[in-house]
Amino acid sequence: MNEARRTPGFETLAIHAGQDPDPTTGAVVPPIHLATTYAQDDVGSHRGFEYSRSGNPTRAVLETALATLEGAPYGFAFASGMAAEDAVLRTLAPGDHVVIPNDAYGGTYRLVARVHHAQGIAFSPVELSDASAVAGSIGPRTRLVWVETPSNPLLQVADVAALAELAHSRGALLVVDNTFATPYLQQPLSLGADVVVHSTTKYLGGHSDVVGGFVATSDEAIAERIGFLQNATGAVPGPFDCYLVLRGLKTLAVRLDRQCQSALAVARFLEAHEKVARVRYPGLESHPGHDLAKAQMRDFGAMVSFTLRGGEPAALDVAASTGIFTLAESLGAVESLIEHPARMTHLSAAGSALEVDPALVRLSVGLETLEDLIDDLDRALGSIRS
Ligand code: PLP
Repeated sequence: MNEARRTPGFETLAIHAGQDPDPTTGAVVPPIHLATTYAQDDVGSHRGFEYSRSGNPTRAVLETALATLEGAPYGFAFASGMAAEDAVLRTLAPGDHVVIPNDAYGGTYRLVARVHHAQGIAFSPVELSDASAVAGSIGPRTRLVWVETPSNPLLQVADVAALAELAHSRGALLVVDNTFATPYLQQPLSLGADVVVHSTTKYLGGHSDVVGGFVATSDEAIAERIGFLQNATGAVPGPFDCYLVLRGLKTLAVRLDRQCQSALAVARFLEAHEKVARVRYPGLESHPGHDLAKAQMRDFGAMVSFTLRGGEPAALDVAASTGIFTLAESLGAVESLIEHPARMTHLSAAGSALEVDPALVRLSVGLETLEDLIDDLDRALGSIRS
């Protein structure tokens, strides 16, 4: 007689969902299937795979695993986060309108403003924490409300459940870029979102060695269209890349537990420092979205942004003076990174409504010894010349 079993927890699913031992060999790690084509038993009769752009067994394992972690019935892996976002935006038709956050990732802004806008998609950048501004920006042709929470690089927190309700009441779908939080910290579909996008390059891969993207959805019609676009446009990840993301997923929870703990300590250190004007970290009580983040997230993430009293010159000094925090774009991996968004990741938003304060510095807190990280920042802040 079967005993009732508890639902597997996140860590169990991250290691096992879709990842049963290989039926032919018993290998406990999904094989990397390099074949581009698959023998057919008869014309039109195959064993689930025909051609590797349309479907690949290693990619299928990743798609099952990550969709399961997002609580999604459908998931599609892409060659990059931008390719995943592009697929979602390609579901729109000329004349349609999308609401985007006024502090969206610079690449998202560029994709909407300089690629899809040129193809006839209208857009409005809006402050997502201002419900009446969001409501006012939704028109009869609005198809998508695009959310990033916590946002990049300002770490603003948006109310996913409230925005989903608002979008749905006006006939639009809610898309959440869950790159900063990951499904371990936040599950947008369970809060009412329709589509989740990821740059798997970040926490999901977790080791700065793979570029990838993902779309998860609970909407059957969207899933059908995204699946079509994945094959038709062909921006698919290679099997080795899929393997690397799968490998990263298995340790996501333990990595993030430690990274969140260190990020809070780093944020508290910065908040007490005389050269720092303002720290943006949702885990600080001073953060305007702290209570909301506490309600919709398991923990507050490992990204910390701060502005310097000395403005841009001080920000550039700090970014160039750390030793353990590496000056580099990207985020979410085991090594800590520092960057200057206005001149690096968000340069593509210069001169737009999404332009970033040049006094801002962004940190991705990694897994090094906490005391070393704080020491490193202390020294860098001490090097400010002005
Ligand atoms: N979304 C967010 C929040 C990001 O930070 C990034 C990249 O930095 C992307 C999407 C794009 O992902 P990728 O670089 O994998 O194309």
